[in-house]
Amino acid sequence: MMTQYLGLKAEAQDCLLFYRMGDFFELFMDDARIAAGVLDIALTARGEHEGKPIPMCGVPVHAATVYLQRLIKAGHRVAIAEQVESPAEAKARGGSKALVARAIVRVVTAGTLTEEALLDARSDNWCVAIGEAGGSVAIAAADVSTGRFEIVEVAGDAVEAELARLGAAEVVASEASAFEEAATTLRPKTDFDSGAGEARLKRLYGVATLDGFGQFGRAGLAAAGGLVAYLEHNAKGTMPFLRPPRIGRAAETMAIDAATRESLELTCTTGGVRKGSLLDAVDRTVTGAGARLLGADLGAPLMDKAAIDARLDLVRLFHDDQAARERLRSTLRAMPDIGRALGRLAAGRGGPRDLGQLRDGLDGAWSLGERMDAIVDPPVLLRDIAPRLRGHGALIDLLKRALVPSPPIEASDGGYIAAGYDAALDDLRDAGAGGRRAIAALEAEFRTTTGVTALKIRHNGVLGYHVEVPARAADPLMKPESGFTHRQTLAGVVRFNTPALHEVAAKVSQSGAHALAAEAAHLEELTAQALAGREAIAATADALARLDVAAGLAERAAEGAWARPSLVDHACFEIEGGRHPVVEAAVAKSGDRFVANDCNLSESSRLWLVTGPNMGGKSTFLRQNALIAVLAQAGSYVPATKATLGLVDRLFSRVGASDNLARGRSTFMVEMVETAAILAQATPRSFVILDEVGRGTSTYDGLAIAWAVVEAIHEDNRCRCLFATHYHELTRLAERCEALSLHHVRAREWKGELVLLHELADGPADRSYGLAVARLAGMSPVTVARAKAVLAKLEAGRAKTGGLAAGLDDLPLFAAAAQVEEAACDVLREDLAKLDIDAMSPRDALDALYRLKALA
Ligand code: ADP
Repeated sequence: MMTQYLGLKAEAQDCLLFYRMGDFFELFMDDARIAAGVLDIALTARGEHEGKPIPMCGVPVHAATVYLQRLIKAGHRVAIAEQVESPAEAKARGGSKALVARAIVRVVTAGTLTEEALLDARSDNWCVAIGEAGGSVAIAAADVSTGRFEIVEVAGDAVEAELARLGAAEVVASEASAFEEAATTLRPKTDFDSGAGEARLKRLYGVATLDGFGQFGRAGLAAAGGLVAYLEHNAKGTMPFLRPPRIGRAAETMAIDAATRESLELTCTTGGVRKGSLLDAVDRTVTGAGARLLGADLGAPLMDKAAIDARLDLVRLFHDDQAARERLRSTLRAMPDIGRALGRLAAGRGGPRDLGQLRDGLDGAWSLGERMDAIVDPPVLLRDIAPRLRGHGALIDLLKRALVPSPPIEASDGGYIAAGYDAALDDLRDAGAGGRRAIAALEAEFRTTTGVTALKIRHNGVLGYHVEVPARAADPLMKPESGFTHRQTLAGVVRFNTPALHEVAAKVSQSGAHALAAEAAHLEELTAQALAGREAIAATADALARLDVAAGLAERAAEGAWARPSLVDHACFEIEGGRHPVVEAAVAKSGDRFVANDCNLSESSRLWLVTGPNMGGKSTFLRQNALIAVLAQAGSYVPATKATLGLVDRLFSRVGASDNLARGRSTFMVEMVETAAILAQATPRSFVILDEVGRGTSTYDGLAIAWAVVEAIHEDNRCRCLFATHYHELTRLAERCEALSLHHVRAREWKGELVLLHELADGPADRSYGLAVARLAGMSPVTVARAKAVLAKLEAGRAKTGGLAAGLDDLPLFAAAAQVEEAACDVLREDLAKLDIDAMSPRDALDALYRLKALA
C-alpha cells in the first residue's frame, strides 16, 4: 500500500494527498502533520516506513468538503486519490490480497472550485495565468464555476493592477516568468508557449481557427494556453466548462492601480472584507450572479460613453417604474443560480438538484422574458437582453417531465426521475413497491405463525432484509423446524432469515438496483442535453445578472435619492450635493446628518487644494468624488443631486503614509513610489486624489515634496486633482498656479468647543484647530494647556523668522519649463558620469540604457 501511496504522492508533490480508504480520506507523513495542524484533528501513526512509524490522520468522506475548505483557505492544494475499482474487482484481478487500484481524480485548488459549499455565492472566483511573448504581457482569467473566460493584454507594469481588479484566487505563471513573484503556482515553461497555447485552444473548442473569437496576441495565446493547460492538469480528464474567451483591451476600462483600489475600498476594505466597501454600500442585488456582476462592474468602470449610457438607461427604466422594479426583484430573488449549476454539471460534479435549478431558472427566465417583451420602447440594453431570456423551451419541457419537483443534491439514493417519464423505470419501482408490500405482508404472517407480536422485518447494509425478535422470544425460532435460520445475536435482539423473505428481498433489491441504474442513465442523458445548450444557458444567466444589477442599482438610487450622472466630452467634474455612500451610512447610524458638498473642477480650475482641521471631512470629500467617478462610469446613479463629468481614463488615490501602516516597506518609501507613479502616468483625462501626501517625513521634507508634487500635477499632468493637506503654506501656490483654487472644510469654535461643520467653503482655512481637535479627542486639559503654551512660543518664533515657508517667495516659478529641463539634464549628466562602462556586463549596460531613457 505504501508503494501505491508514494507513487500517487509523486504525481502530486505540491499537494496534500487525500488517500481514500473506505469511508475516510487518509493523509500520511508530512501531509498528515500539516493537515492535523491546520484542521486541528488527531495525528496518529500506522505501520512503519523505513523503520519509523508513519504519521497519519484522516477525515471522513461525508464531511470532506468542510475540511477541504479549511485547507484551501489556509493556502494548500489537495489531490484526491479515489478507489477506482471495487474490492471485488481487485480480487478478481489479483487474488484475495490484491490492493484496490487508486488514482488521483482531481486536484482541488483555490482557483478551480465549483462546489457550492467551497465558494462565495456573491463573488467571482478567478484563476489567472500570466503569459509573456515578444515583449508583451497578457493575463488570462477563468472562473470555472461559471465558465467565464477573459484574456486581456496589459502593460508589464499594469499586471499588479489587473490582478487586483480580479482579486484572483489563484495566479499561475511559468517557472521561467518575470512574474514569478506575483504567482501562487508555477507551471512548466512549455505550457506557456504561444504556439502550443493556440493548438490547445483550438483543441478545447474543437475549431480549426481562433479567428471567430477575436484578435489574439501572442502573449494572450501564451496566457490562455498556460491557463488551459493548468486546468486540464487539475481536472484529470473532466475539463471544466470554459466559454469562448472574451478578449479585452485594457483601454476599454478606467485604469485603477492596486494602491488606488485598496485605498478607495472599492470591492473590499483595507481589512480585506466586503463589509464597509463601496460594493457593500451599493449592492442591492438579490441573486449571487447579480452580486458577482456588480462587483465586476465596479472593479472595471467603462470608458465608452455609449456603453455607460446604455447601462444607465436600463437603470432608469427600473428607477422610474417602482412597481416593475419590485416585481422583477421578487421574481429574481426566487431564482436559482443557473450559472453555477451549469458550472458544476459541466465539471462532472453536478447532480439532480443542479438540473432542477436549470429547469426552474430557465423557466423563470422565460416568463421574465415575456414580461420584458411587453415593455414599450425598451432601452437598447434590454432589447439585447430580452431575447436571451426566452430560449431553451425544449430543455425546460424535458426537465419538467423528467424530474421530480425538488430533486436531491446527490444521485446516489435515486428518486429524482419523475413518475411517468419512463415506463420501464415505473415498472421497476412498482416491482420494488410490490416487493415492499409483500415484505410487510410477510411480517404480519410471521407474527401470526410464531405468535411473537414484537417480530419485525428490518433492513441493514450487512444482512439485508431480516427478521428481528426480542431475545426473550427467540427460542422457538431457533429450532430448525421453525423454518428460520439464525444470523446474529445482539444485546436484546436476535436476527433470522427465512427462504420466503430471502426470495422477496432479492426481488426488491434487484429492482431497486435496476431502478437506480435506470435513473443514473437518465441523469447522464439529461445532463448531456443540458450541456449541449450550455453557451446559450450561460448567456441567459448573464442576462438575468444584468437585470438584477440594473434593478439593484435602481433600488439603491431610489433609496438614497441618487442622480443619474451625465457624461460629457470635456474634462470637467461638476458635482452638486455629493455624498460618500459608506461614510453617510456610518454617520446616519450614529444619528447624525451627512453634509453634502459640491465639487466643481474644470479646465480653468482643475486642481483644488483643500485645507482645514483634522477630522474636518477632507478625506471623505476627496474619496466621495473619486467614488462618484467610479460609480458613474460603472453605469450607476451617483450619490449627488446633480453630476456632470468628463470620462476619467485613470483614477489615482494616494493617502499620506501614516494612515497606511499595515505594510512591510518603509511607509514613506511606499508613499513616494506611489506618488511617483501618478506623476508618471496621469493624463489630462485622469482624476487624482492626494490626501496628506508628504506627511510621512519631516516637516520641511514633507512640505517641499508636497509643493513639488502639486506643481508637477498642475504643470505637467494637468489632470483633475483634489489635494488635501495640513501644510497651510501650500496655499501660497494659488498665487502661482492659475488653475489651482483654495478650499477648506469649515469649523467653528463655540464656547471654547470645536464644532466641525464638514462643509466645504472657498478660500484657505484660517487656522488649523489642532489643539481643539486634541481636546475633542479627549486629551487631558492639562496636556492641552501645556500644548497651548508650546504653540504660543513656536508661533512667536515663526513670526520672527518668517515661518516655515519663509524663502518660498524667492522660489522661481515652476512654469519655467527650461528650468525643469535643465534639472532633468543635471540628473542625466550626473547619472552618466557615474557609469563605469568598462566594468559593466552587457546586461548591466542595457539596464543602464533603459534607466537613462526613462530619465530623458
Ligand atoms: P479629515 O480627512 O479632514 O481628517 P475625515 O474625512 O476623515 O476628516 O472625516 C472625519 C469624520 O468626520 C468622518 O469619519 C465622519 O464621521 C465625519 N464626516 C466627514 N465628512 C462628513 C460630512 N460631509 N458630513 C458629516 N460627517 C462627516
